[in-house]
Amino acid sequence: MFPRFSAAFAVLTALAPLTALQAQTKAPAIKPDVTIRQMVQDISAKTLEEDVRKLVSFGTRHTLSDTQDPKRGIGAARRWVEEEFRRYAKASGGRLQVVQDTFTVKPDGRRINKPVLMANVMATLPGTDPTDTRVLIVSGHIDSRVSDVMNATADAPGANDDGSGTAAVLELARVMSKQKFPCTIIFVAVQGEEQGLYGSTHLAQRAKKEGWNLTAMLNNDIMGNSLGHDPDIKDDKHLRVFSEGVPATETPDEAKLRRTLSSENDSPSRQLARYAQTAAKQYVDGLEVVLVYRPDRFLRGGDHTPFNQQGFTAVRFTEMNEDFTHQHQDLRTEKGRAYGDTPEGMDFQYLRKNTGVNLATLASLALAPAAPQNVGVLTADLTNRTQLQWEAPKIGEKPAGYYVLMRETSAPQWQQKFYVTDTKADLPHSKDNYLFGVVSVDAEGHESLPVLPKPVR
Ligand SMILES: [Zn+2]
Repeated sequence: MFPRFSAAFAVLTALAPLTALQAQTKAPAIKPDVTIRQMVQDISAKTLEEDVRKLVSFGTRHTLSDTQDPKRGIGAARRWVEEEFRRYAKASGGRLQVVQDTFTVKPDGRRINKPVLMANVMATLPGTDPTDTRVLIVSGHIDSRVSDVMNATADAPGANDDGSGTAAVLELARVMSKQKFPCTIIFVAVQGEEQGLYGSTHLAQRAKKEGWNLTAMLNNDIMGNSLGHDPDIKDDKHLRVFSEGVPATETPDEAKLRRTLSSENDSPSRQLARYAQTAAKQYVDGLEVVLVYRPDRFLRGGDHTPFNQQGFTAVRFTEMNEDFTHQHQDLRTEKGRAYGDTPEGMDFQYLRKNTGVNLATLASLALAPAAPQNVGVLTADLTNRTQLQWEAPKIGEKPAGYYVLMRETSAPQWQQKFYVTDTKADLPHSKDNYLFGVVSVDAEGHESLPVLPKPVR
């Protein structure tokens, strides 16, 4: 069995006595948001399966495949995803904005052998609060491949890799575009993943160049199969989330601070991974998110990585046990085993739950206030207390208050939370023995991502 973390969770939801705090105001009730729960229930395994089968029907979605044919190739697949987004845009009263964000990739001497016009198919749901600049991105990759990564003509169904992620993005757009969120959410099917993460690199560089306040990026890649092979193992109750420990863009000064704090397990991306684990626990029945303390799997890369490389907070969702006979394989039968990435190998109820984890994470973040700023821990004196201070976020809704999160330095998840309405806290727990984080919270209990305090004198 996989090791469980229920002990940590049991403490997480228990409020500590408020006597030690300056603020005696009642904390927002910790109860699930009915709208988020309803949206998670709206996610349809049937629609996800239909979308995966439609994506497979384009024969191949290889990045170098035909773009003009009405029925076969990457062009037809992109146009279909765009049409689906436009259908949801109509249902959303026209708020969802749909575009193919095109860019040209030159031959790279590796997996691109001619100039290629690629496109990320994007649907943007603008935030309703003009002062809230936050952007959230959820992605899957539309392209597919077979054994030979340069083969652009053979059937490459890509049902699970990454029809699963693309279908999840479509389903999230369908369900979430009916609702209003203060900040902006971008649903995107990126192209060129298999040829070298081209679509996600384009989008991450664009976000950096245009100065987007990108708060979180969720990459969904290979997340709709519950049967592993070698060894044979079934698991439809766990979803892995991969997150970098040390940020890819860490500077020498930041490295020095990290060594002082031993915060190598507390990067913003890892906070997002923890946040997703908690959101899943609150809103998705029969599924637990497993934190993998790695940026990705061995020998593999993914679309969250270019975002990490631009300094953004980004994680990857992937099924618990992959079946490698169904990935990057020519369709064939060998020794009685069927190879190839077809819908027959998939579990659409599992994909439904995994899509729900994305929804719960995105909606919880989007409905929460922005995170506090300049969070510091006072280290001027030798004491057995912890004094924290911070500033309210400068954008969006004003928080009703803040939670100070606390855990032992060896604990994987936050264990304890304290509510304050002030922008400082004085806790009778030693800063030497615990890790702390501060989150903004609104009156309904929606929480931002936590910010780790830096030592101040
Ligand atoms: Zn993939």
